[in-house]
Amino acid sequence: MAYQALARSLRPKKFSNVVGQELVTRALINSVSHDRMHHSYLFTGGRGVGKTTLARLIAKALNCLKPEDGDCCGTCEQCLSIERGNHIDVIELDAASNRGVEEVQVLFDQIRYPPSMGRKKVVIIDEVHMLSIHAFNSMLKTLEEPPSHTVFILATTELSKLPKTIVSRCIKFNLQNIPRKKIENHLTQVLEANHVKPEEKAIELITKASGGSLRDALSLAEQAVAISGQNPVGRDMVSKMLGFVSEELLTELLVTVGEDNCSDAFEVVHKINESGASSARVLDQLASFFHEICKDRVLRNCNRSPDNNRFGSFAIDETQANLFYQICTLGKRDLHLAPDEFVGLEMTILRIFAFIPDKNGGTYLHDQNKTKETLKSQGKKELKTDLLSEELNQKKKK
Ligand SMILES: [Zn+2]
Repeated sequence: MAYQALARSLRPKKFSNVVGQELVTRALINSVSHDRMHHSYLFTGGRGVGKTTLARLIAKALNCLKPEDGDCCGTCEQCLSIERGNHIDVIELDAASNRGVEEVQVLFDQIRYPPSMGRKKVVIIDEVHMLSIHAFNSMLKTLEEPPSHTVFILATTELSKLPKTIVSRCIKFNLQNIPRKKIENHLTQVLEANHVKPEEKAIELITKASGGSLRDALSLAEQAVAISGQNPVGRDMVSKMLGFVSEELLTELLVTVGEDNCSDAFEVVHKINESGASSARVLDQLASFFHEICKDRVLRNCNRSPDNNRFGSFAIDETQANLFYQICTLGKRDLHLAPDEFVGLEMTILRIFAFIPDKNGGTYLHDQNKTKETLKSQGKKELKTDLLSEELNQKKKK
């Protein structure tokens, strides 16, 4: 049998195998078992959270030969045919590549007649927001009153791009990102079932990088297994693969911030660049660190013991951690404006140093103002920018 990617070969065969989305699966199982299916559903949510998977499971549950309390069996002829993608009554349209009125009309021609193999015809339109406005308009009537043997399932990552007239004709389910712990447990089970031993930290990093998408997590895990070969999937390798920087280097950088040692910080940033880490990932990691430090300080102020003592030793207080967190997130947002990624990272680190209070309680920026005041009091000319603005003001007065 041809090799299939993990994310495809591990697609749940029944509602009960779906990871996360408990409320949605419960609602669907109840509707199927009480024969109360609506004629059109709309699944919204981020990529890889199970929209198409749930759509196909509905098709299975409605046509299964041996349904069990509203769930499909996953093994009968109908279920297997839907899984292989060759069931004649389950019609899938990828709206990203079939956007026009003609494609939608061809689809509607197919649903006029009763199902020939199963009990219901199921129409799945993926990335439905990509349809043209004329295609949407041509759908309205059929979507409101489709033939009784038909169920429509629309899926989209961009709900805001759908006309209100379409949304109001469907039962809408907003699929949530999969919780971190569930992705971690699932990845561990999958890898162990494939005789791969993963390090706990490696799984944590993959889960973090997946952003709540199970499909992304499985693809990344597969990539890590391919790189590891016969060896266990280790933290350092996964960290490198994902463009993260090692925690040791990150800690080194935070120590320089705590000590207000800008020249050492330059060296660490240089080492980070040499390690091949992506600037966006490093800023994400730094922001997470400052978030943890902030939490640690707040808990200590409330006389509650923090989750762990890792962050107790850094000489960074709550206000600073708060500010540095924002500097990192804004630095990441503006990375695309920087001449190159490394300059963007270095400037963000420099900005952090610019806001470290000096021993007198001021900051570098306050010091600049002090310098200006001293220069003025000594009757000396200030920075060129101030000269320019003075000249401009005088011209305006004239
Ligand atoms: Zn079945």
